[in-house]
Amino acid sequence: MKRTKIVDIFAPELIGNQVSVKGWVRTRRGNKNVQFVALNDGSTIKNIQIVFDMEKFSDEQLKPITTGASIHVIGQLVESMGKGQSAEIQAEQLEVYGTADPDSYPLQKKGHTFEFLREKAHLRPRTNTFGAVFRIRHHMAIAIHQFFHEHGFFYFHTPIITASDCEGAGQMFQVTTKNLYDLKKDENGSIIYDDDFFGKQASLTVSGQLEGELAATALGSIYTFGPTFRAENSNTPRHLAEFWMIEPEVAFADLNDLMDLEEEFIKYCIRWALDNCKDDLEFLNNMVDKGLIERLEKVIDTEFVRLPYTQGIKILEEAIAAGKKFEFPVYWGCDLASEHERYLVEEHFNKPVIMTDYPAEIKAFYMKQNADGKTVQGTDVLFPQIGEIIGGSVREENYDKLMKRIEELNIPMKDMWWYLDTRRFGTVPHAGFGLGFERLLLFVTGMTNIRDVIPFPRTPNNAEF
Ligand code: ATP
Ligand code: MN
Repeated sequence: MKRTKIVDIFAPELIGNQVSVKGWVRTRRGNKNVQFVALNDGSTIKNIQIVFDMEKFSDEQLKPITTGASIHVIGQLVESMGKGQSAEIQAEQLEVYGTADPDSYPLQKKGHTFEFLREKAHLRPRTNTFGAVFRIRHHMAIAIHQFFHEHGFFYFHTPIITASDCEGAGQMFQVTTKNLYDLKKDENGSIIYDDDFFGKQASLTVSGQLEGELAATALGSIYTFGPTFRAENSNTPRHLAEFWMIEPEVAFADLNDLMDLEEEFIKYCIRWALDNCKDDLEFLNNMVDKGLIERLEKVIDTEFVRLPYTQGIKILEEAIAAGKKFEFPVYWGCDLASEHERYLVEEHFNKPVIMTDYPAEIKAFYMKQNADGKTVQGTDVLFPQIGEIIGGSVREENYDKLMKRIEELNIPMKDMWWYLDTRRFGTVPHAGFGLGFERLLLFVTGMTNIRDVIPFPRTPNNAEF
């Protein structure tokens, strides 16, 4: 008999039919006449209740049905008398696939802390919360592809192993096949890479942007969606050493086009979650963050504030003059700390903010220089609770200006001739951004630690599983 997934079982037309379900036991309770099992198969947050009439089953048969055990039940789907569910199954046949010894199975009924569950990352997808988070993660990935596909962007694959180290977005992990116990060095003590796999030093990518620019200046509009790696030793609730990044890049786009794209894209993703992840969001709203759904609805209905950095500094200085205390100093040219970003977003505007036109000194070399000679056309999208969710910019398309900046910053570009060729041959204005997938998921799920929105987090001192 064909298995019915629990997500499909509540269809009214199935009532009265014989059904076959398979899944993991969440709970069992009852008395000597009747036993109730809540079964979940991961297809939905919802459990199906299975009713065992103890005239048809023996205690011995039901003994292995403990939390975590995997079973197969065939029975009749009937309307439920109990509240909170529309249907239940009157068990006729039971098959036990695997038991889960209550003395050693770590996920017992009562709620566990997220810290505890991080140590059990191999099993936590079986909990309600992580089941919900990882289903939402799937739906958000679909939303992203759907958005770009609908808008005529091509999905472009940029390399994960790279030999260019100039992006400067973060510390890189090296990729090597060299024998680390026996490294060949030159007279200055520098490692010689000639005999390494790629014949030069190679690393895991920190961003696909530079290759994305090559694609945008050929295909027009592209996006990447892949893993990125940063060996930054920042043990925060918002940083991972391995995370997924979405990086669209658009030829012929200016600063306004860029901000429009950022805002439209992020709203599309959030609307998608509200439309496609209703049950999971309702669960998270009840159990994790009571303000979640309201916050998501509010964001799609608000126009984001577009705020030049210089004006942002003025607002912060005025706040300080009026008595607001910050840990870090505020002055024109400073890199805003997250306390400053959160003040603007959560207290001053109470809306997402797209901050633009940052001082060149605190931004990457490739950002388009403004006529004032001081600022560049970078944009950070700042979100309540999260802080920076997107970093983007218009790219400097003028070869001479770009080279001047590269020389000023002493950036090693000898392996980057291919990037500079975009500015030598048929250069065009273009812009793009990077969105951290897990930062988006933090916002959409209401989870507060980035380790809890990726199945197997990689952070300093942690690569278990
Ligand atoms: P932050 O200032 O928060 O460290 P960043 O300025 O280094 O971020 P970018 O280089 O602009 O980040 O990367 C683009 C986006 O990638 C960020 O807006 C953020 O959403 C995400 N991101 C960056 N670093 C990480 C990380 N270590 N873990 C998860 N997401 C990240
Ligand atoms: Mn950034």
